[in-house]
Amino acid sequence: MVRPLALALVLVALPALAKPPRLTLFITVDALGTDLLLRSRPKFKSGLRQLLDGGAFYPYARVQYAKARTAPGHATLITGANPWRHGIVDNRVVDRATGVPSSVFRDDTHPVLEVPLNVATEGDTSPLPLMAETLGDRLRISTRSRGKVVALSGKGRAAIALAGRLGQAYWFDETVGKFVTGTWYTKEFPSWLKGFNARGLADGYFSQQWTPLLPKADYLGEDERTYEVDAANMGRAFPHPLNGGASAPGPRSYTALAISPFSHDLLVQAAKAALEGEALGKDDVTDLLAVSFSGTDRVFHAYGPHSWEMQDTLYRLDRALGELLTAAERAAGGKANLVIVLSADHGGAAAPEHWASEGLPAQRLNPKELAQGLNQELKARFPQVEVTATVEELDVYLGGKGLTESKVDGATVRRAVADWLSRQPGITLAVARDDLYTAPDVGGLLAPLRRGYYAGRSGDVLYMPRPYLVVSSEPAGTNHSTPYSYDAQVPVVFAGKGVKPGTRMNEISTTDVAPTLGALMELGAPASAEGSPRPEVFANSR
Ligand SMILES: [Zn+2]
Repeated sequence: MVRPLALALVLVALPALAKPPRLTLFITVDALGTDLLLRSRPKFKSGLRQLLDGGAFYPYARVQYAKARTAPGHATLITGANPWRHGIVDNRVVDRATGVPSSVFRDDTHPVLEVPLNVATEGDTSPLPLMAETLGDRLRISTRSRGKVVALSGKGRAAIALAGRLGQAYWFDETVGKFVTGTWYTKEFPSWLKGFNARGLADGYFSQQWTPLLPKADYLGEDERTYEVDAANMGRAFPHPLNGGASAPGPRSYTALAISPFSHDLLVQAAKAALEGEALGKDDVTDLLAVSFSGTDRVFHAYGPHSWEMQDTLYRLDRALGELLTAAERAAGGKANLVIVLSADHGGAAAPEHWASEGLPAQRLNPKELAQGLNQELKARFPQVEVTATVEELDVYLGGKGLTESKVDGATVRRAVADWLSRQPGITLAVARDDLYTAPDVGGLLAPLRRGYYAGRSGDVLYMPRPYLVVSSEPAGTNHSTPYSYDAQVPVVFAGKGVKPGTRMNEISTTDVAPTLGALMELGAPASAEGSPRPEVFANSR
């Protein structure tokens, strides 16, 4: 005989996950490191506050691979795999034959609709290079394409990764000031997108200025610093004009808009148009809407994570997210039908001059100077043959006839390059790809390099800067790419149907996001996922 209490518990526990949510909202905030989020948190009043206070909040998730970059970050969040499985190793990969880097999602057979490839902001066009299943792909297959998958972002590489092979990706193109998509996805813009673009919202920002949202006393530090970039003619101090220094709306003003928090407001309006246009959340089959906010990253690169601009961007994002959450709840027919996750693709370093001014051993590590020194060394070591080096973030690609025509032993060259690099100040280790899986991992820094390595796409020699060394060929601004905590530690929040609220201090991997969300959506994990569903997230877990 079943005891009444046990039976009652079973009856109460089951419905929580008996039916998938009608709508799943997958939010990423580009370059939102954990420390940046936590120090901004007290001033949140809207969407971010709602999620952090009401969701299952993991402040300490970790990107487990080098390089902590946008394309691999989004690919990992949505596939549950590291780059060694999904193949998206960085934003750009270098063609060894030419030594020229190109966008990782570039696919000349699937160009962008209405924007010629040679003028598009970035060359990302299709998910062809993505080698792992996404959560959206899994949803499409398991619902026989009844569950819709739509991804929107200020960046092509974010939208394309999140949409996977079977979803729809839309991203803002700064050359035309519109949201666009490519021929991989469709032959013609859907009518809702045409209607949205026809509103010309991007042009409306041309004559506006970006001023601080809160009273000046609410911002930490100083507004204008010498290591900030005067991006898109916006200046280094408030107020920032959004006209890009142009006389009429066009690519220059669209670029200024993209480096401002108003790009987030525009993205939310596009997401609302997609919710309505694609009728997301309207039936019992789960739909997936992914929204990646890019303005945070652009503000981070130009002004740094401690700037007034960054602080202001988060306070404004909080409001924009509030509007997005309200729209998603409405589309799903209430909170009870909605599941949300929010995370970030990576964090980011302070401007090295900022750290140095406080007494930390911080510097810029200029990849162009590194490549020059390396090419001189190669000439001296191998004078009879042509070997050339190209540095892309933490990867060194080797090319030239000496290697392509096998006039010199490749492994010997790669090991010579690794040896030279490891002797440079600012570099803690370097390894030839030949030795990546056999070299002893003394300090634990080879493990992230291994997880980030994909044969044929990654470099021939990989190196790791010392902490506080920021890889940058610019005289100002900052960057992200290492496995150090400031780049690699990101927040994850689950909220909504089936989620048990609470702050969880255990560290999780960013590969756990897709399997956990998959479980909340009543789906299995994506095919190549390495992470696991986090059991403490589920409301009916005991
Ligand atoms: Zn990013």
